[in-house]
Amino acid sequence: MNKKKSINLQIFFDSLTRNAIDFLKKSVDELDKSPKYSVIHFCSAIELFFKARLLVEHWSLIVAKPENANLSKFQAGDFHSASMKETIKRLNNISGEKIENKAEQYFESVRNHRNKLIHFFHEKYIVKPDNLTLKEVIPEQYAAWFYLHLLLINQWKAIFKDYSEEIEKLNHLMQRHKKYLRAKYEEMKSAICKDKKNGIQYETCYFCSFDAAKVDDTYNPLFSCTCLICNMRSNFLVIACPECKTNIKVEDLGCGECQKCGFVSDVDFLLQELSPGRYYKEEPLEAYCGNCEYSAAPSAIPFDNSYLCLNCLELLDEPEHCGYCNELIAGHDLENSWIYGCIMCDGSLNWNRD
Ligand SMILES: [Zn+2]
Ligand SMILES: [Zn+2]
Ligand SMILES: [Zn+2]
Ligand SMILES: [Zn+2]
Repeated sequence: MNKKKSINLQIFFDSLTRNAIDFLKKSVDELDKSPKYSVIHFCSAIELFFKARLLVEHWSLIVAKPENANLSKFQAGDFHSASMKETIKRLNNISGEKIENKAEQYFESVRNHRNKLIHFFHEKYIVKPDNLTLKEVIPEQYAAWFYLHLLLINQWKAIFKDYSEEIEKLNHLMQRHKKYLRAKYEEMKSAICKDKKNGIQYETCYFCSFDAAKVDDTYNPLFSCTCLICNMRSNFLVIACPECKTNIKVEDLGCGECQKCGFVSDVDFLLQELSPGRYYKEEPLEAYCGNCEYSAAPSAIPFDNSYLCLNCLELLDEPEHCGYCNELIAGHDLENSWIYGCIMCDGSLNWNRD
């Protein structure tokens, strides 16, 4: 932050963060009485955390049109602020802050839900909520908080360090959602058991840890599962161990351990096993993944009409070449790559971060 303005900006940062914490507490309080306000306050909390993070980059970035930003109007609170979508885009482009695509989808669904509530009359939120309403609100908030909490305690740890205790308290508060999820699991347990007897496969959910992640038949060796309790999706690969041929389940980061002989897989091993070869047909086929930003190797390979990253196991759109460094990149918006660059380069513009 600029020295001259840093005192002011600290005040803004603190006020945004305190408001975010406040809104999140309110959102939990209102869960039973008024899911409508819970959704609205929850969404405001997420937006405020994002804005606080972006403010550290530059105050004008939280204004809808930074080119028209005016410091005195900003200080008076007289400005339209950037939308959540725009805020995330700016974090990605300008601060080189990567918000995973999947996390972004959950934030986006919270925002869409909020907008629907504000713009349309929603009968079911006005009276005491029926189970369906809570079933909708709770998994959504659980997923969004899961990802926001990860950002706050990892990537953004240094920025929110003064609030780490408060953030842990919030996380504790959000465990209330887990109670609902547990009740939901108890309710669904017998149906899941029945499914299992009929040969449908379930895995333990990576997020909520209930034994309720239903495995969809996707594209062998890639499997995807969706948790019936918290609604989160995750992918995994099943691949034969090179030592003993036992099937290994590979989750995030290319990591999987053979239960029989202890062999541990990594991205390099998966590339060797599954990639058609980087220079097959003269053109490089493997691309760098813009979703997880794994930079040690181009980890995305052609896979069933699209691309699959062997590090984050997400399916990605066809890759494109970066307009600045010409690297092949999948799962990243390269529209302004000549200016902003890509995961492998900084582009043509050097941002003055003062
Ligand atoms: Zn789950
Ligand atoms: Zn083995
Ligand atoms: Zn990836
Ligand atoms: Zn590039």
